[in-house]
Amino acid sequence: MKGKITISLIKPYAVKNGYAGQILAKINEAGFRISAMKYVQLSLGQAKKFYAIHNGQKYFEKLVNFMITGPIVVLLLEKEDAVASYRKLIGATDPHRAEEGTLRKLFGASIEMNAVHGSDSDENAIKEANFFFSEMERF
Ligand code: ADP
Ligand code: MG
Repeated sequence: MKGKITISLIKPYAVKNGYAGQILAKINEAGFRISAMKYVQLSLGQAKKFYAIHNGQKYFEKLVNFMITGPIVVLLLEKEDAVASYRKLIGATDPHRAEEGTLRKLFGASIEMNAVHGSDSDENAIKEANFFFSEMERF
């Protein structure tokens, strides 16, 4: 069965440039329900934990150092088939390759500084939701 939740992060570059509002509007228009939302600024340790699966990749240090440069917006999103549906809305990892109209195409600067994160599986969506949100923060 396809899961109903996914996690998105609006990354520091997009937050700094004031794109969070426009990104949230697109998420609403696409039919997602926001069941939890907050600003956080990750520590280096937290960023490394969140991206642990990428540890050892050549871009890992750059990625985690970028992710701690400012606040991010963390979103718990609900929709049927949430993971696949959201990945379709955000587009390819590299904004230059992302389809027209996708969040990464519209708001991303580069593959290193793309605008948003989206969970890649139901299992990781649950792990990421538990990493960021307690029961009390979910509505
Ligand atoms: P996605 O975010 O589309 O799931 P990945 O999980 O492969 O992509 O990578 C996680 C993040 O790491 C990407 O969003 C991007 O910020 C960064 N990244 C991935 N691949 C590269 C790369 N080749 N060069 C620089 N940064 C990368
Ligand atoms: Mg990924």
